[in-house]
Amino acid sequence: MKMDNNTIEAIIRRVLSDQEQFNTDEYGYGIFDTMDEAIEASAAAQKEYMRHSLADRQKYIEGIREVVCDEKNLTYMSKLAVEESGMGKYEHKKIKNVLAARKSPGIEDLTTQAMAGDDGLTLVEYCPFGVIGAIAPTTNPTETIICNSIGMLAGGNTVVFSPHPRSKGVSIWLIKKLNARLEELGAPRNLIVTVKEPSIDNTNIMMQHPKIRMLVATGGPGIVKAVMSTGKKAIGAGAGNPPVVVDETANIEKAAKDIVDGCSFDNNLPCIAEKEVVAVEQIADYLIANMKNNGAYEIKDPKVIQQLVELVTKDGKKPVTVFVGKSAQYILGQVGIQVGPEVKVILVEAPKDHPFVQVELMMPILPVVRVANVDEAIDFAVEAEHGNRHTAMMHSRNVDKLTRMAKEIETTIFVKNGPSYAGIGVGGMGHTTFTIAGPTGEGLTSAKSFCRIRRCVMKDAFHIRDKQ
Ligand code: NAD
Repeated sequence: MKMDNNTIEAIIRRVLSDQEQFNTDEYGYGIFDTMDEAIEASAAAQKEYMRHSLADRQKYIEGIREVVCDEKNLTYMSKLAVEESGMGKYEHKKIKNVLAARKSPGIEDLTTQAMAGDDGLTLVEYCPFGVIGAIAPTTNPTETIICNSIGMLAGGNTVVFSPHPRSKGVSIWLIKKLNARLEELGAPRNLIVTVKEPSIDNTNIMMQHPKIRMLVATGGPGIVKAVMSTGKKAIGAGAGNPPVVVDETANIEKAAKDIVDGCSFDNNLPCIAEKEVVAVEQIADYLIANMKNNGAYEIKDPKVIQQLVELVTKDGKKPVTVFVGKSAQYILGQVGIQVGPEVKVILVEAPKDHPFVQVELMMPILPVVRVANVDEAIDFAVEAEHGNRHTAMMHSRNVDKLTRMAKEIETTIFVKNGPSYAGIGVGGMGHTTFTIAGPTGEGLTSAKSFCRIRRCVMKDAFHIRDKQ
């Protein structure tokens, strides 16, 4: 095989990068000292990228998928994400990373529309914005970089990432790995960039920079509001507090298992994960018994429940960061209850106004609220979701009530008779994303969400259905 000098250099650089595996002293491959340098490099790369074909784009995306699914890389980054952020579960990070790599759509998402008739032919195409600034959360640091990179590059853009400072090491490592592979495949350098020291200041510089044409924020309400206030095109993927309703017609045994599985996935970090159960009185005891058979540990003592509230929340209003994404076993240990790893979820019966119901905790503490009937359950679920319109679940066989809840709650994702993760393509139909844009309306983002729609008109010609 003949190789040009650039390819040889790219391979040497990759081998060196493999040896170092994770060394913050060695940069290059898209990592810059300052945000200005990163953005300038990204802008130059985007110009060059526009001269590459669609087939090239797809090849580079396949390269990203390969890097992530390589067992050594997958193991390394999934472990590092947990170690560095102190959140989540290694085995589930692996699943999430593979999911992002395999099920984030590439260029096939960019379907051209054509309108042909007496006046000619008009094409409507998905075109790049240019350089996108993407802000990633600490709860899905690598998953967000993977799915945003695939979608944004498929759309012909380049991307400047602003990772969460608490997951900067793994984010920088992944960005280097991706660039190394992209260079090897003949892509322009710096398609994906970031800075050595991600910080709020650097994010602010990025948001204001004139060469950033679009902003994509995946995180809490603060950052979503910040990008939407810039005057630029912005996608905001914000917070949720997903309720799950269970009525008397549901398959209770299955519902109980689905709820525990969804709630405990990556220790409840996903923004879509079950955060509170609203159960109809008639089946509540049976549901709880079945949840306990599937790995839930119930706490009934009000004193212990209060101890937990004081431990894991700031005045019942916000989660305490060190407990976000921690296991049920770990959290129970902090209040003197020793259990094995088979315990996946801490179950607490709670009134409607309890902090565990109202606050997006992002840890496997699952409150169950009892209500008289399914209509009250739906109404309360809407209230507990706080108008985020993010994600909700319902277990029922009553089509009318399933339909009523879907209509009332207006969430971007509504899962019926399954665990929450079915909504992002794990055992459910459809593509995946880790940027679910409720506030700005793009829904489950994919390549086309990161594109401008442009029309190209040929007057009078190229319509072929008649012989006028
Ligand atoms: P976070 O809001 O604390 O941080 C998200 C990102 O924004 C980080 O990179 C952070 O550095 C940056 N940031 C935050 N405030 C900022 C500010 N004022 N100025 C500049 N940058 C700022 O969120 P997190 O704890 O990392 O992630 C959890 C939150 O994200 C939860 O609310 C969760 O629901 C949400 N989330 C939503 C989605 C979605 O697709 N809708 C996906 C993942 C997480």
